[in-house]
Amino acid sequence: MINHIPFNKPFLTGQEIQYIQDAVSSGKISGNGDFTKLCQNFFAQRGFGKCLLTTSCTDALEMAAILIEIQPGDEVIVPSYTFVSTANAFILRGAKIVFADSMKTNPNINADSIESLVTSKTKAIVPVHYAGIACDMDQIMGLAKKYNLFVVEDAAQSINSFYKGKPLGSIGHLATFSFHETKNIHCGEGGMLVVNDDRFKSRAEIIWEKGTNRSAFFKGEVDKYGWVDVGSSFLPSDMLAAFLFAQLERIDFIQSERKKVWDMYYSELKLLEDKGFITLPIVPNYASNNNHMFYMVCNKSYDRERLINHLKKNDINAVFHYISLHKSPYYQTKHDGRELTQSDLYSDNLIRLPLWVGMPEENIKRVVREVKNYYYQEF
Ligand SMILES: *Cc1c(COP(=O)(O)O)cnc(C)c1O
Repeated sequence: MINHIPFNKPFLTGQEIQYIQDAVSSGKISGNGDFTKLCQNFFAQRGFGKCLLTTSCTDALEMAAILIEIQPGDEVIVPSYTFVSTANAFILRGAKIVFADSMKTNPNINADSIESLVTSKTKAIVPVHYAGIACDMDQIMGLAKKYNLFVVEDAAQSINSFYKGKPLGSIGHLATFSFHETKNIHCGEGGMLVVNDDRFKSRAEIIWEKGTNRSAFFKGEVDKYGWVDVGSSFLPSDMLAAFLFAQLERIDFIQSERKKVWDMYYSELKLLEDKGFITLPIVPNYASNNNHMFYMVCNKSYDRERLINHLKKNDINAVFHYISLHKSPYYQTKHDGRELTQSDLYSDNLIRLPLWVGMPEENIKRVVREVKNYYYQEF
């Protein structure tokens, strides 16, 4: 019997339970405790602005939408090829989403297409660094400056990845990370808001703490605390932060293990690309690769379906990814009708291969062998 190869296996360092135990024993189990501070400092020391842990990246995006004061009727430019939360957070505040197409060379937003989408109602651009590979941030920040727009980086997949040497998540006015179990570093469900623009720093803390100035009170900055603004409960329990900190301590190991798997896939599958069957990921010169994901683009959508089925028959779980949001049941009637052909191409033809920390070499080889078997049987 051959073993099943899952798409993802959440990595555990072995230290998570001990740190949760420590958080429980400390008697401070709610949010903004010692482990929360350790996690936030970890990022603050690496070139980010103010960092606030949240219960998800979705929550961090919702905080971003509140902070930039999205009003009904405002327009927000978002790639169509992304996860629903990138758009939903702004829809919840009444924004109209203007979907942008992806690039020909990778699924990131086509920065060349953004300027023609800007109107007098545009308030923000939300680039998503797909697979942890940077969007063209100089171009996007340049447009934001020219038209006085905010940039919220959806850096959900981008931990430890860079644009021209700057960490992703440190460039936009605001940025959001995810620590969902499918991401490189995780705590089951979790996220973080990064506030790089000083104008938002104190208000971000208030929104985070249910609209109160509780954080300022505990830091001794005000003598009593009360309700000062809108807000919600965006803080995770310190038990989750304890789990997360155990992962952050091992970030270098985690990244190097992921890189081994990614590099092996790339070199073993290059031949299929050279023969013209598939396209492998392209990492632009300005970007680094945090090996969040190994994807490839099939030339034909029927190849994608058949390849997934072939792998499934061989006990390998490979998966497709996003369906263009402008064609979703929720948004198709609201979309302005523009064709977004690259986004559709990735919706139909992109496949992701299994990748996790500790994936045995023989598993990687088996996946490669079955991908090759599929193409050699077909042609
Ligand atoms: C995972 C992901 C999200 C959502 O993250 P959660 O922490 O599950 O809310 C948002 N955007 C992108 C691009 C993602 O990959």
